Amino acid sequence: MRSLVVLFIVAVVVAGLYYAWPRFEGESPVVTAPERIALGAAGAEVEIGFADAGTGLRSVSAVLRVGAPASADTAANPSADTPDQAAGEAGGDAAKEIPLHAQTWSGSTLDGPLIAVHEEVARVALDPRAMGLPEGASTLVLRARDWSWSGLGDGNTTEVVVPVVVDTRPPRLSIETGLTYVRRGGAAVVRYRVDADAERSGVRVGEAWFPGFAESTDGRVAVFAIPVDAAPDPRIEVVAIDAVGNESTARFDARLQERTIPEITIPLFDGFLERVAVPLGQAAGLSESTPLATFQRVNSELRARNEATIADAIGAPTAPQWDGVFEQMRNSKVTSEFAEIRHYVVGGERVSRARHYGFDLASTAHAPITASNGGTVIFAGDNGIYGTLVMIDHGLGVTTLYGHLSSLAVAVGDRVEKGQTLGRSGATGLAGGDHLHFAVLVGRTYVDPVEWWDAKWLEEHVTERLR
Ligand SMILES: [Zn+2]
Repeated sequence: MRSLVVLFIVAVVVAGLYYAWPRFEGESPVVTAPERIALGAAGAEVEIGFADAGTGLRSVSAVLRVGAPASADTAANPSADTPDQAAGEAGGDAAKEIPLHAQTWSGSTLDGPLIAVHEEVARVALDPRAMGLPEGASTLVLRARDWSWSGLGDGNTTEVVVPVVVDTRPPRLSIETGLTYVRRGGAAVVRYRVDADAERSGVRVGEAWFPGFAESTDGRVAVFAIPVDAAPDPRIEVVAIDAVGNESTARFDARLQERTIPEITIPLFDGFLERVAVPLGQAAGLSESTPLATFQRVNSELRARNEATIADAIGAPTAPQWDGVFEQMRNSKVTSEFAEIRHYVVGGERVSRARHYGFDLASTAHAPITASNGGTVIFAGDNGIYGTLVMIDHGLGVTTLYGHLSSLAVAVGDRVEKGQTLGRSGATGLAGGDHLHFAVLVGRTYVDPVEWWDAKWLEEHVTERLR
């Protein structure tokens, strides 16, 4: 009988321990946050994660200590995990602390949480101006406490201290170039200076971006262009941006010269659709029930994909690699000009539309295609409607493009001289016959090759301004 009682007591104790043991867990909550926060004038939204795999979260908080650098004594009282407590214990200096987030969950020390919450995500907006943050250091203090009985019932506590650096001053920027004329679809050059704070800079024309090239510590030069389809009076400005997104802009005297854009109609014939468009559509997975429908997808969807491939091949501007005027394909006849809008017509009805961003140059079949100027090959291979395509980077963000080739004589990475053979002309891609599709890009914007073929224009608008 006595042994039964002992057995019963042992059973109760074991059951009690079995129940209570998890409540003594010593696993601290996990707080995830950026290691360091850099704030520009625009501020930032910061995501903070609080997690506790054991008994669950009891309380979490995020407090900003204004103007206080993150140091060992930042955490005045690690056990204070509500903003009120933290502020109260900071010696009455409540104005220096901004509570950003606080959450507590119901429950009792004995029974634990009403409902165990194991994860909480807080998104806090840090706005230096609205919060009156000074330039330089502040500190974000993050705390989390769980429902464990450890710490004499206080639970496990985690505190994470994140240094915050505020820099709302935009970089210095000054323009060195005077009056500049630039045609719609044409290019121009601007020189400017920035301070060391500027992480990136360039020219912005509406949506288009033309990164500058660093000639010296503070000297920058940018070749920029007015996209053919830019707004009627586009904003043309030099922009400098620092590491935390503070932006300086400067206008300069750039005058846009408008031009009229020709529109042409191109009749589509069954033979072309079946022989050219259908295989391209099949290869690209864009086949439709009729050759015309396939052509329509090729001319819009495949074209867009191919333009993205071209844009992706273009990198940051390097030092100029060209020498003198750009050469037009020898003994070639111009069959189509820059920027014309093409309406494709079947039986008098417009079925598709595209802008022609280059020049079509025709010579004899399989004519040698040569580099328009010195540079580095950045693309050599198939690109859908462009067929076999070569792209050459000439430096300062200037690229030339050679499409519809029948053969290749260069590979990506090759340095080429002006006049060096790149391959032979052909009719690969969306081409009705053997010709070269030649284009010039500044940044990722197509420009009129005529300017780059013109020695006088190049000297006055580019070369002189680079000296
Ligand atoms: Zn073309």
